[in-house]
Amino acid sequence: MIYDLIIIGLGPAGLTASIYASRYELKHALIGSLKGGTASESHLVENYPGFESISGQELMENFFNQAKKYRPEFLYTKADQISKNKNVFEIRTNEGKIIKTKSIILALGVQHRALCIPGEKKFLGRGVSYCPTCDGPLFKNKIIAVAGGGDSALTSALYLSKIAKKIYLIYRKEVFRAQALWQTKLEEEKKIKKILNNQIKEIKGVGVVNEIILNKPYQNKKSLKINGLFIEIGVIPSKEFNLTPPLKLKKDSAGYIIVNYRQETNISGLFAAGDITSPADKLKQIITASAEGAISAVNAYRFLTKRTTRI
Ligand code: NDP
Repeated sequence: MIYDLIIIGLGPAGLTASIYASRYELKHALIGSLKGGTASESHLVENYPGFESISGQELMENFFNQAKKYRPEFLYTKADQISKNKNVFEIRTNEGKIIKTKSIILALGVQHRALCIPGEKKFLGRGVSYCPTCDGPLFKNKIIAVAGGGDSALTSALYLSKIAKKIYLIYRKEVFRAQALWQTKLEEEKKIKKILNNQIKEIKGVGVVNEIILNKPYQNKKSLKINGLFIEIGVIPSKEFNLTPPLKLKKDSAGYIIVNYRQETNISGLFAAGDITSPADKLKQIITASAEGAISAVNAYRFLTKRTTRI
């Protein structure tokens, strides 16, 4: 069997692409593992029109249920290798299964950036976390640290302040880069202690995290006793699959996929949408990823039906 379209990624871009593909009656399937992508980890979304305030998980559940209504196939697997034979793509999954398709939308999103410091890998799941929504409740009345200075770090610190006893928010510069609204809310939260112009050098513990070492002293001490560390220092593009030569995707210097206004990559029939696309500093929001998902699906339909006129 050859699909019209395979969508790789189950985040806002992938799920919206599926809704549009269904409405164009494209025979398609979605490949992925994390339902809702990293958007589902956001504890509170207050800038997606139509929903004054909703958790990322609930909003993504809504996306998923809407996509599912049209009965596309969901293949809970991982795409390992993509090759092209004449005009048909072949996707090899990590179980060795081959999926054939005439077009693909890459909507893999991004993954968390690591601090790359000693102790980070060792204590992952033992006090080190990249997901406050998933792991925050484990730190009730504990002392925790959050690393970063963007929207993720500030919203995470604010969310965690409802659970933990005390939070150190550690940022390497003087002025946070997060939206002003989050900075105002931060000032009102007394449990959060700001540590600016400083960085975490090492994570220590016995079995679980109990200490972090700073680059510079904070209140005359270079180490802080903590129970957990949330790393919220941005994202990097996911690199979950390989392309078989001569297929070669054009990417920018930061590794994001270059697309045109139709979400077309340099490879015919291969589209990309959402946070995985260039430029690195574009607005990465649920609304923008969804819009790109819709555009990519419509243009996949045009590609498959060779339509050049407006739809
Ligand atoms: P950002 O890229 O915006 O911020 C990353 C932060 O981590 C920066 O402050 C950066 O410092 C810091 N950082 C990066 N590398 C290191 C390092 N090696 N050591 C220490 N600090 C480091 O990422 P976010 O995850 O905060 O946000 C990603 C996108 O998602 C943004 O577009 C954001 O607006 C959006 N978002 C929106 C939310 C909302 O509105 N509700 C919630 C969460 C995210 P520096 O500033 O010095 O570069």
